[in-house]
Amino acid sequence: MARTPIVGGNWKMFLDLAGAVQLATDVRHRLGSVRGVEVVVFPPFPFLKSVADRLAESAIGVGGQDLSSETSGAFTGAVAGPMLRSVGCSHVLVGHSERRSVFGDSDEMVARKLAAALAAGLKPVLCIGENLQERQKGETFSVVTRQLRSALAPYAGKTDALADLVLAYEPVWAIGTGLTATPEQAQEVHAHIRQEIADLLGKSFAAALRIQYGGSVKASSAPGLMQQPDIDGMLVGGASLKAEEFAQIVKFRQAN
Ligand code: PEP
Repeated sequence: MARTPIVGGNWKMFLDLAGAVQLATDVRHRLGSVRGVEVVVFPPFPFLKSVADRLAESAIGVGGQDLSSETSGAFTGAVAGPMLRSVGCSHVLVGHSERRSVFGDSDEMVARKLAAALAAGLKPVLCIGENLQERQKGETFSVVTRQLRSALAPYAGKTDALADLVLAYEPVWAIGTGLTATPEQAQEVHAHIRQEIADLLGKSFAAALRIQYGGSVKASSAPGLMQQPDIDGMLVGGASLKAEEFAQIVKFRQAN
């Protein structure tokens, strides 16, 4: 089954307003009419509206890096899914490893945030992945299976709700470290994830689901990763802050 690749740029807590708008302008210049690859950028919350305005009517989507599990209320500092929609977001990251490890988002909280994203009509990019210790102990498959089941088991038999779901496999040891998983290492886990999804949510849903790889992706590593049969895109942190390199990653086919 042909799956349209999806490439995301996670700008994390970098840039200021002027820098974010400039980066959006540069990305639009290089990728505004790109075809055959879905592109989304994830700026910090305060810059979302300005970036969304700058990317309006282009092929590039905008997403939040996180969202609250709640819809509204007295939750100081939190940002709700409907708020993200109201400033032009189409997508949202859910369960990024930095939210899990730095801010303590549990599997249960990630499941609630996923439900909140779907309720708000946002396209969720659900991030999963093992840390170095877990990989060294041979727990990679069991960790990603636990993360998947906890977030997705409630949708067994109800996969219509997950039509816009994207997964991102991001080994924590590869995020921001310069250590990219080899294409073979990544493929092994992606194949496991797709099999788990088939068991949980059905074969045809699994066959259509896009699974991104994330972890120190560079323009040089993108083509090799994208040749793997179960890698359907990339979630890019550091390299997405450079418009030229991000564009090269999105145009991974041209490097072949
Ligand atoms: C990320 O933030 O999701 C990520 C993969 O970061 P980096 O590309 O910098 O490792």
